[in-house]
Amino acid sequence: MRRKMAAGNWKMNGSSAALSVISDLAAAHADNTDTDIVICPPAPLLFRASEIARSSAVTIGAQDCHSETAGAFTGDIAAPMIADAGATHVIVGHSERRDAYRESNSDVRAKAKAAWEAGLVAILCIGESAEDREADNTLDIIAGQLSGSVPNGSTGDNLVVAYEPVWAIGTGAVATTAQIDEVHDFIRARLVQRFGAEVGNAIRLLYGGSVKPGNAVEIFQCDNVDGALVGGASLKAQDFTPIIEALI
Ligand code: 13P
Repeated sequence: MRRKMAAGNWKMNGSSAALSVISDLAAAHADNTDTDIVICPPAPLLFRASEIARSSAVTIGAQDCHSETAGAFTGDIAAPMIADAGATHVIVGHSERRDAYRESNSDVRAKAKAAWEAGLVAILCIGESAEDREADNTLDIIAGQLSGSVPNGSTGDNLVVAYEPVWAIGTGAVATTAQIDEVHDFIRARLVQRFGAEVGNAIRLLYGGSVKPGNAVEIFQCDNVDGALVGGASLKAQDFTPIIEALI
């Protein structure tokens, strides 16, 4: 049985006032031992968020890391700094970064490895654009992203793969369960083929893209969906809590 995960990606939202969401979630899920709850706030909030989440069911992640451990990279954040701030996870390869910062599959692979070296779990995002889907290229794109950005040495403990169709992010257009099943089953098969049944079946797969309290239950019924990577609906405890509860 894979452990379920509800991860919230705050993107470039939230101020110190929003940290109460983390204490609210920690209080609401004080008895939860079954589900990983990960909140990924903007980098300036990582340290305080980690302090607030300490000894609770909530853990903290960053939204990106550099592939180097230190150096002249103005504005960037190294994986050891994220760990030093108390976080345990980091998102790599989000489509917004692949797009706006031209991150390639090999960039993402290097970031995932840097995350591991710092002891962080990498939440590695993949997903096709609307054009890819319309051209019937979804599975080819997914296959290329998996082989190009998932590093050798992946395990169920160091990697979580998030399937986020770009056209479903922030649009309210959720993939159908048939579309989610098709892609998640394909990802699972590829991971098993590459890493063997034990490791391939241990790596958790999250769905992301307009997950809301109203659609979470249905999405989580898909066999190879082990949780969600949630954007907008993770910004308020009252929205994120029913999504977490749909996993329990
Ligand atoms: P939304 O849930 O706002 O669509 O964002 C999804 C996402 O990009 C999470 O990483």
